Amino acid sequence: MTADDRSHDASERPAPGLQHADVLIDGAVVVTMNARRDVLLDGAVAIAAGRIVAVGDASAVRARVTAGETIVGRGFVVTPGLVNTHIHVTGEPITRGFVPDDTPFVENVFQWLCPLYAAQDEDDERTSAQLAAAELLLSGTTTFLEAGTVGFLDAVVDGLLEAGIRCRVGRWIWDLPPEPSVYRQTTHDAISRLEDELARYGTGGLVEAWPMVVGHTTCSDALWSAASGLAREHRTGLNFHMSPAAMDPEHFLATFGERPMVHLDGLGVLSDRTVMAHCVHVDDTEIDVIARRGASVAHCPTTALKVAYGVTQIGKVPEMLARGINVTIGTDGNNAANSSDMYRAVYLVAGLYKDARRDPTQVPAEVAYQMATLHGARALGLADEIGSVEVGKRADLVLHDRNRPEWTPLFNVANQLVYSADGRGVHTVFVEGRKVVDAYRLTTLDAGELYERAQRAGEGVIARAGLPDESKWPARGKGNAGA
Ligand SMILES: [Zn+2]
Repeated sequence: MTADDRSHDASERPAPGLQHADVLIDGAVVVTMNARRDVLLDGAVAIAAGRIVAVGDASAVRARVTAGETIVGRGFVVTPGLVNTHIHVTGEPITRGFVPDDTPFVENVFQWLCPLYAAQDEDDERTSAQLAAAELLLSGTTTFLEAGTVGFLDAVVDGLLEAGIRCRVGRWIWDLPPEPSVYRQTTHDAISRLEDELARYGTGGLVEAWPMVVGHTTCSDALWSAASGLAREHRTGLNFHMSPAAMDPEHFLATFGERPMVHLDGLGVLSDRTVMAHCVHVDDTEIDVIARRGASVAHCPTTALKVAYGVTQIGKVPEMLARGINVTIGTDGNNAANSSDMYRAVYLVAGLYKDARRDPTQVPAEVAYQMATLHGARALGLADEIGSVEVGKRADLVLHDRNRPEWTPLFNVANQLVYSADGRGVHTVFVEGRKVVDAYRLTTLDAGELYERAQRAGEGVIARAGLPDESKWPARGKGNAGA
């Protein structure tokens, strides 16, 4: 397309006279992710009252916008903020990397992670959530879907609102064993907790609660039905884990005589509001069910690699994409995938199946990036609100710094975003028009104070959990807490 075509982009809203904007980003490369996937080489984006009010060629936008703040866009690539559809923000950020990397799945969850989660207090969870938010924002993720493992919801919501990130969170809900006693719930208790969190945080904010359940084999049919009924009633999503390993399908087959997706569909759980993390061990019948119901899948490649799920051997992401399933990308917990930089996950999404199938046409860069933006937005029920740089959407934007080696030279921006760039080059971030990262620094939190607080909190949690330090390198001397 020509520059002239772009200046008449349908996403621009013609306006008589000058239009006021709070911020104008003027003269940047703009990756719109609009329906045509336009890339504006000399583009501009105007923000007012938290929304994008103009996008187009810089000369055209400049001529009709007057702005409170103008950011010289030369040297930046503007993209939508990424959407991380599966991350544990409590427990694991502050104990990141403590769990040895050679533990099998069941030992990992029940001998290591559950005791760490159980040892947290309210302040620990608030600190952990803020550390997660800091890492996400600083690496260009503006929205996340939490995994449903929050113990102290009020403290976590408070901490996340202070951080200024968009997210959906949920309390730790399960009603079947095995569970640590600290989380033990009856079915009645579990449903009451879901109703309570929805009543307090169900709608209308940057941070909202969803009726999430941990999933796997830890929910009774009554709880599955109640959670999905609440999601329908409150028009929220429903989020849970399923089938990262063979354990879940084996349990469902032994208990119900049918595979997980088939059983859940029989309960009315699967719909276009459902987001399921992992779905590695699924068969073709289950893919049919997921496709038919319009449910979303959160693919977590960094976890799959480290916890040995077999995603490259039996995972079916290409088949799911071919069936039109809304496959999204998550980073999961910081003791499974120890980094929450979505760019590492996006890179793996584009690369793993090329190698596994020995076919370079698998999961093109453009598709991997779409999974981290538009698909994530759709999974969260926010397809009309985030995921692209278009007029009317909320101003969740990332400015990547081109004055860096991994951004130089710049020819094919999709390849650059997926294979070269990562969170290191994220210079400025807006969430709903608020500048939350400015010149590589958080504006909402004191990062140095947060990192010290997180180190102390993590040390306390590990001590209370009573777990051994199994670092293989002998540590000597007395440590001091970071900065
Ligand atoms: Zn998870």
